[in-house]
Amino acid sequence: MKTAKTKALLLANIGQLVTLRAASGVSGPRRGVQLNELAIVEDGAVLCLGGNIVSVGTTKDALGDPWIRKQRKRITEIDCTGKVVIPGFVDSHTHPVFVRPRLVDFEKRIEGASYEQIAAEGGGIRSSLEGVRNSAKAVLKQKVLAVLRDMAAHGSTTVEAKSGYGLTLESELKSLESIREAASLWPGTVVSTLLGAHVVPKEFQGRSQNYVEIVCREMIPRAARRNLAQFVDVFCDKGAFTPEETEQIFAAADEHKVPVRAHMGQLSETALEPFFRFNPVSFDHMDHVSDVDVTQLAKLDTVATLVPGANYFLGLKKYPNARRLIDAGVPVALATDYNPGTSPTVSMPMAMSLACTQLRMTPAEAICAATINGAWALRLADRKGSIEPGKDADLAVFDVQDYREIPYWYGTNRCQTTVLNGIVTTRE
Ligand SMILES: [Zn+2]
Repeated sequence: MKTAKTKALLLANIGQLVTLRAASGVSGPRRGVQLNELAIVEDGAVLCLGGNIVSVGTTKDALGDPWIRKQRKRITEIDCTGKVVIPGFVDSHTHPVFVRPRLVDFEKRIEGASYEQIAAEGGGIRSSLEGVRNSAKAVLKQKVLAVLRDMAAHGSTTVEAKSGYGLTLESELKSLESIREAASLWPGTVVSTLLGAHVVPKEFQGRSQNYVEIVCREMIPRAARRNLAQFVDVFCDKGAFTPEETEQIFAAADEHKVPVRAHMGQLSETALEPFFRFNPVSFDHMDHVSDVDVTQLAKLDTVATLVPGANYFLGLKKYPNARRLIDAGVPVALATDYNPGTSPTVSMPMAMSLACTQLRMTPAEAICAATINGAWALRLADRKGSIEPGKDADLAVFDVQDYREIPYWYGTNRCQTTVLNGIVTTRE
């Protein structure tokens, strides 16, 4: 991996430049047929200055530009002949703060144990707690940084990172600090989320309300005061937190002006209506959702973030019904859900491949969901998720001739170069 800092950067001769520029009249997250509109420029060029995109068009126009002609020698140029350039992926749902893989769970599941059975036998989320609680912040920071670098190598330039494997005040803050410190050493953009309400830890079993109080009265205020979390997340499902507890945690987040998101509908259906008043940025998983809620979501900017890597890794036959959501007009995003238990992948192209083969999304819809709608799910769409003048210089160069090859060649990494806030990293 090679990293280079440049003031002026020109990507030229791009076979397919997938800009995702919004068509006129389109605002808000992309829905329905808009998800198929990629706004591709053939033989394209992108000029970036000081970490921002300043012009987007054809190579012919760029090379005819008087400023570029005059500065040519001082501009770092990347020849993208025969390649595809897309906006850097926005991976809007990841859990990178953990120490060890969960190999016992992996084998038990192969033998036929369910998610709930594994959790009941001491596996699952709870088995990752000890590692995080007993690790120094510097160790966690190195783990997170290694993951961020791996993600960038697969084309991700913006990553949401959750705490949630400590589940004590001290270890949740330590997890958020480790995310912040790793982010300061990575050229991409990291958004951190407090997931103190991941699961009720063993020592609070049977008195979850006491734990919810700690989340609401200690974790959220402390994280908010130190600006350690841009979002508060809750795992709302059977075996995790109830809808009432979720509302309580959302209300506490609201009080501290931290926007909310939730793991919703992974194992069972929960009525979404009580949560709409908190204006959640995203509901994630969404394997189970009622018709009434789908109709409601289509009217809102709340994104449904699908994480098919979790279904794949759990060996499930059923996947979230993306077609039903998209056809109803619900904005859909895609993320890896990188975590040690149910989705140990950093690869957004793999998530896209699953979206195409298992969720029956088109390759164009998958790209849109993995970039601009991910940006909407993080409230960063003014800076991220498309290649337009004024946005951050976040780009991924793929060694393929057609954008549809990105989800097609599953299991291999065709991302060659990633530009993160104007900083170029190239695989060797
Ligand atoms: Zn998750």
